[in-house]
Parts: sequence; structure tokens; C-alpha cells
Amino acid sequence: MFHPCECGSGKTYAGCCGRLHLGAPARDEQALMRARYCAFCRGDEAYLRRSWAAETRPADLSLDPAQTWTGLTILSHETEGPDTARVRFTATWRRGARKGRLTETSRFRREGPGWVYVDGDLD
Ligand SMILES: [Zn+2]
Repeated sequence: MFHPCECGSGKTYAGCCGRLHLGAPARDEQALMRARYCAFCRGDEAYLRRSWAAETRPADLSLDPAQTWTGLTILSHETEGPDTARVRFTATWRRGARKGRLTETSRFRREGPGWVYVDGDLD
């Protein structure tokens, strides 16, 4: 059965962010961005913590189970150096009858074979 990945890639979950959630390294900052968005959709706190730089990782993620993520759009991405990159994206959400969107520019850093999220600026 075709289970589309929540990140909107058009691939199956197992062939997309599911691989990263199981431990495969993100090959670039966009792949990590997608996998983290997908982890938010699935409430996968373990992956969110693992893919967060140690110095900025919050002690408590406190995901809100009532908030559903409904779409990801990567607006732009920019490599800053061999080991740092930025991704600008919009994510939409729903919470009961309320809907909203957030736009953030996120910073990522290469660590070992993969990438981690460092921090971001909301618009
Ligand atoms: Zn995906």
C-alpha cells in the first residue's frame, strides 16, 4: 500500500523520511528539514531530539498533540559553507477549528555523516 510521506515529497514514507527516522543520515539540509517536519507530524520526539544540535536542543519539546501539521513548503535553501546551510520554509497547521502557518529560516550544520538543526528565526 502506498503511504505518502507527510513531507510532501511524493515518495513513500518508508522510502523518504522513514529511512532517516530509522537512523540513516540526512544527505543534505533539505532532507533533514523534511525529516524533522515529518517527525513533528508524527510526534516523533526521539528523532527531533536526535537531529537537534546539543547546545540548542530544548530540555522539553512539549509537542502539542492537538496541533496537526498540514503541509510543508520549502521556499529556498542556501549553502553557506561546506558545513552550514539555511532553509527557509512555510509550514501550515490546524488546531481544532483554527488554522495557521509559520515561516522560518532555519540554520543547519553538518555533523559526522549527516546534518543537525541548530536554530531558526521566525518571520
Ligand atoms: Zn519525507
